[in-house]
Amino acid sequence: MANNPSSTSIEPRSESWPDRLRRSAIVLLGGSIGLAAAVIFGGLTFGQAALVLLCIVAAALVPWKLRQDSPAAEDLIGLRPAETSVVQALVSGMPEAAVLLDRAGRVLQFNLAAAQLAPALRKNELALFALRSPEIIAALRQAIATREAQRAMYVDRVPVERWMELIVTPLALPSAFGGTESCLLMTFHDQTPLRRVEEMRADFVANASHELRTPLAALSGFIDTLQGPAKDDAKARERFLGIMHAQATRMARLIDDLLSLSRVELSAHVRPDAQVDLVPLVRQVIDGLEPLAKERHVTIEAQLPDTPVMIAGDSEELLRLFENLIENGLKYGASGGRVIVSLNEASTGEGNAETRVSVRDFGPGIATEHLPRLTERFYRVDVGDSRAQGGTGLGLSLVKHILNRHRGRLAIESVPGQGATFTAAFPQPKPLSGA
Ligand code: ADP
Repeated sequence: MANNPSSTSIEPRSESWPDRLRRSAIVLLGGSIGLAAAVIFGGLTFGQAALVLLCIVAAALVPWKLRQDSPAAEDLIGLRPAETSVVQALVSGMPEAAVLLDRAGRVLQFNLAAAQLAPALRKNELALFALRSPEIIAALRQAIATREAQRAMYVDRVPVERWMELIVTPLALPSAFGGTESCLLMTFHDQTPLRRVEEMRADFVANASHELRTPLAALSGFIDTLQGPAKDDAKARERFLGIMHAQATRMARLIDDLLSLSRVELSAHVRPDAQVDLVPLVRQVIDGLEPLAKERHVTIEAQLPDTPVMIAGDSEELLRLFENLIENGLKYGASGGRVIVSLNEASTGEGNAETRVSVRDFGPGIATEHLPRLTERFYRVDVGDSRAQGGTGLGLSLVKHILNRHRGRLAIESVPGQGATFTAAFPQPKPLSGA
C-alpha cells in the first residue's frame, strides 16, 4: 500500500462554511459603508459606484471561489475536527477491516486490516475501483442506491482461501452545516473458522448417520428374511439372530461413544481436580479385558509400579481412555500375541515431569501416513477391519479429547510390521519453588 493507512484521515483542509460566510459579510458590509461614504462625501457618479460595488461583491466571493479550487472539496463532508478525530479513531480501532465511504462511495477512511484486504484502496477514490469481488460491488452499489444496510458473502482466494462476510451500514455523521451527512461503513468479517466448524459438524452428522444406518440396514434385512424365506429354518434363525445381536451391540456402542464424546467436549474447559491413583485403575482395565485377550490369544503384560501414582483426573474418563487403547492393541495387534501395558514417570524435552501410560502391541503396526489422522472422528486405516472388530472409529478421538481435558497428550509410534505404541502422557504438578 503506497499511503500509510493508519494515518489516513478526513481532516478539513479549508475554512469552514460559517467562517467563509462571516468573512464575506464583513467584506460586503465594510465595502458598502465605504462606498456609501464615498457617494455622499466624495461625489462618486452612479456608474462609478456600481463599478465599485461590483468589485466589493467579487471580493466577498473570493473565499467561496477558493473553496471550490481547494483540494478540500474532495472531502465532500465537512466534519468538525472533534468528530473527525473520533471517526478516525473508531475506524482505525476496529478489530476487523473497515472502510468509511461518503454517500457516493468514495473512500474517506480505512484501517490497516482493510488495506491488507484490499491493497488498491485509496483515499478520495471510489471504493468500487479497489474491490474485486462481484458480490462486494453488487452490495455496495445496492447500498449507495437504496441507503439500506447490505450483507454479502464472498470467498477471498488471495493469499489463502477465506470466507468473508461484508456488511455495509448506512451512517449519518454530523456535518459542518449543522445537519448530518450520510456515509457508508463497510466492515469485513472473516467467517472461515465458523464455516470450518459448520463443515465439520455437517461431516460429523453425515458420518454418524451413515455409521448408524449400516447396522440398521443389516438388522431390517435379517428381520425381513426371518419373516419371509427363513421363517421355518431354525438353523438360519439361530445364525441370523447372532449377527443381529452383534449389529445391535455395534449400534449401542456407537451411540455410547457419541454421547461420551459430546460429554467430554462439553466439559473440556474444566480440568478434573480429583486425585486418582493410576495403578489400580490401569489394573482394573486390564482385568476387565482379560476375556477379550483370551479370545484373541493375546497375553497382556502389566509393568506397573508397586507404589501409587497419583494424577489429577476423572476416573470414569481415564477408565474409558485406557480401555480404548488396550482394546485396540488386543483387536488390531492380536497377531503379535502380546500387549505390554507400562506405567512410568519421565521428563519431556522441556524438562517437565510427566506420567506416561504406554500400550505396546506387536501386530502389523500402522503406516506413517495414517498416524496424524488416527484421532479424527470416524477415521480408520481399514474400515472393513474396524467394523469386523466392532469398532466405531471414535475410540481414539475420545482418547484425544479425554487427554486434552486432562491437559495431557497422546503420542503414537509405529513401525509397520513391528507393532504400535500408544502413550498417554499426563503432566505432573510443578513443585512449589523453594519446596
Ligand atoms: P475403531 O473403533 O475403529 O477401533 P479407533 O479410533 O479406536 O476406532 O481407531 C481408529 C483406527 O486406528 C482403527 O480403525 C485402526 O485402523 C487404527 N488402529 C488403532 N489402534 C491400532 C493398533 N494398535 N494397531 C493398528 N491399528 C490401530
